[in-house]
Amino acid sequence: LHERMKVNNNEDELSTLMKLFNEMMDQVERSFQQQTQFVEDASHELRTPVAIIEGHLTLLQRWGREDPAVLDESLHASIQELLRLKGLVQDLLTLTRVDGNVQQQGAEISSPDQTIPQIIKNVAIIYPSFCFETEMNGLSEVVIRIPAEHLEQILLIILDNAVKYSAGNPLIRLTGSVDKGHASFQISDRGIGISKKDLPHVMDRFYRVDKARSRQQGGHGLGLAIAKRLVDQYNGTLAIESRELEGTMVTVSLPVYSITDI
Ligand code: ADP
Repeated sequence: LHERMKVNNNEDELSTLMKLFNEMMDQVERSFQQQTQFVEDASHELRTPVAIIEGHLTLLQRWGREDPAVLDESLHASIQELLRLKGLVQDLLTLTRVDGNVQQQGAEISSPDQTIPQIIKNVAIIYPSFCFETEMNGLSEVVIRIPAEHLEQILLIILDNAVKYSAGNPLIRLTGSVDKGHASFQISDRGIGISKKDLPHVMDRFYRVDKARSRQQGGHGLGLAIAKRLVDQYNGTLAIESRELEGTMVTVSLPVYSITDI
C-alpha cells in the first residue's frame, strides 16, 4: 500500500507539473502571438506613408522638372508623410520603452495642483481657439509618485484627443480631486464621443474608430495605448466614459501619499 501511495503521489506531482508547464507554454505562446501581431500592425502602419512617399517621388522623377504644380504638390505631400512617419516611429519607440520599463523610483510631484495648470498653459498655446477650464480640489497637500514629464505626457495625449475629436466644440474641462487615497484627473470634452461598440477597444494598440479621420488628424491609434501603459506603471488606472455625439470623459487615477509620508 505504501509503495502504491508513493506511486500515486508521484503521479499527482507529475500531473501538477505538467499542468503548470502547459499553462506556462500557453502564456509564452500568447505573448509570442501578441509580439508577432504588434510587428505586423506596426509594419502595416509604416508601409502606408512609405508607399505614398514612393508614389510622389516617382511623380517628381517623371514630371517634376517640367510641371511646377506637380513639383509643389508632391514635395508638400512627401514632407507631410515624412512628418507622419517621424511621429509614428517616435510613438512606437515610446510604446516599446514604456512596455519594458520599471517604475522610476523617487520621482514624485508634490502639490499637483501647481503642476497641472502649467501643463494646461502649454496646451492652450498650441490650441488658441480652444477654451480650457481647470478646477483643482484638495490636491495641494498630496504627493503622487510619477515623474512630471510622464504625467504631462499622459495628459497631453488625452487633451490632444479632446481637441482632435471635439467636432468644433471648443470647451475642454480638466478637474482634479482626491478621493479614497487616489488623485483623479478628469478631462471632458463635448465632441463626437465614442460608441458602445468601440469604447472597450480604444486603448488597444493601433485601434481607431475612424481610420480616415484619425489619419487626417495625425493619429496612429497609439496615444491611448501609451497613456494606459504609463498610468499602469505607476499603479494607477485609466478609465473612459463616453456617449456618441455628446462627448467623452477620461479619468486618470493615481495613488496619493500625504506630504507627511515622505
Ligand atoms: P489616435 O492617434 O487615433 O487619436 P488614440 O489611441 O489616442 O489614437 O485613440 C484611439 C481612438 O479612440 C481614436 O482614433 C478615436 O477614434 C477614439 N478617441 C480617443 N479619444 C477620443 C475623444 N476624446 N473623443 C472621441 N473619440 C476619441
